[in-house]
Amino acid sequence: MRKTPPLSPRRPTRTVTLGSIGIGGDNPVRVQSMTNTDTRDVDATLAQIAALTDAGCEIVRLAVLDEAAATALAAIRAGTKVPLVADIHFDHRLAVAALEAGVDALRINPGNIGSEAAVDVVVDAAKAHHAPIRIGVNSGSVDKALLKKYGGPTPEAMVESALTHIAFLEARGFYDIKVSLKSSSVLRTIAAYRLLGAAVDYPLHIGVTEAGTPMRGAVKSAVGLGILLAEGLGDTLRVSLTGDPVTEIGVAYEILRSLELRARGPEIISCPTCGRTEIDLVGLAEAVEERLRGVPEIFTVAVMGCVVNGPGEAREADIGIAGGRDCGIIFRKGEVLGKVRGSANLIPAFMDELERFITEKKES
Ligand code: SF4
Repeated sequence: MRKTPPLSPRRPTRTVTLGSIGIGGDNPVRVQSMTNTDTRDVDATLAQIAALTDAGCEIVRLAVLDEAAATALAAIRAGTKVPLVADIHFDHRLAVAALEAGVDALRINPGNIGSEAAVDVVVDAAKAHHAPIRIGVNSGSVDKALLKKYGGPTPEAMVESALTHIAFLEARGFYDIKVSLKSSSVLRTIAAYRLLGAAVDYPLHIGVTEAGTPMRGAVKSAVGLGILLAEGLGDTLRVSLTGDPVTEIGVAYEILRSLELRARGPEIISCPTCGRTEIDLVGLAEAVEERLRGVPEIFTVAVMGCVVNGPGEAREADIGIAGGRDCGIIFRKGEVLGKVRGSANLIPAFMDELERFITEKKES
C-alpha cells in the first residue's frame, strides 16, 4: 500500500518461519491473537480458531496449562492450518509435548521454565522441530534481581531480562527467536521496544498487555502500537482486549490500515454528524458497517451527512452517499449515480447499490 507521509523505514530483522508464514524481514506485519477457550476443549478451541482466522488472524497462540491441554493440541493441529504457538510456563515437559503434538512455535519465558537443564531440553526439542521460540518478557514477571537493580520493571529492566534470555538461547546455538516486551503501560512499552530494537535484529512481537476492555484497550493499543509501527518497529502484533479475541483482529487491522501498512476488508468513512445532518446518518452508517462485517475485499465506502464535505468524500470513495434535505446522492468512483428522494428510501437504496458493488467486486 501507498505510504504518505512516509513512516520510518521498517527495522531490518532476521526472518523467522512459523508454519507456512514468514515473520520479520520483508514479510508484512502479522496479526495474531490468543484463544480464551479451555485448550482441553478441542471443539470450542477449533471453533474460536476458525472465527479468528475468518477475521484475518494469521497466528494463534494457545495456553497450555497441563498435560491434557498438551495432548489436545494434536487434535487442534489436525483441525486447522493456521500457525499455532503454544504458550508455556513453569513446565518444560509441556513445551516438548506441544512440539510433538505439532505446534509451530513456543512462547516461553526462559526465566520461569525451570533449571538450565530444563531449558536445554526445550531448546533441543525446538531445534529438532524447526520451531521458533518467542521470548516473552512481561513487566509483571521481571526477576527480582533486575527489579532491585533498576528500582522496578523499567524498560531497561525488561530489556536486560530479554537480552539475558536471548544470550541463553544463543549460547546453545539457537537463533530462531522472536521477542516480546509487554507492559500495560503504553509509555513503558514504547520505551522498551525502542531499546530492544536498537540492540538486536530479531523480529519483535509488539503489544500492550492487559490493555483493558474493548474501548480502552483499543485506544491504548492504537497509541502504543501505532507509535512503534510508525517508527518501523514491530513484525507481529497483538491487540490485547478483555473479551472475545475476534474483536482484537478488527482493531489490529484498523491500526495497520491507518498507517497504510496493511488492509483487510473495506474502509468505512462516515462523518460525525452535526446540526446540518438531515438524514438518518447514524442508522445508515450502522447498517453499512453491519453489512460489511467480515467482507475481506478492500474498498472504501463513504457515508456523509450533508453537501458541505459529503460530495468530496463520497467522490473519493469507491461507493458513497452524501445526504441532503430529505434526499441523498449516491456516488460510485466519483460518478453521480443518482439522487434518492425521501429519507425512508435512503438506507434501502444505498444498501441495494452496495450489494451490487460487492457482487461486482467479488466477480472482478
Ligand atoms: Fe456535518 Fe456535513 Fe460534516 Fe457531516 S459532512 S459533520 S453533516 S458538515
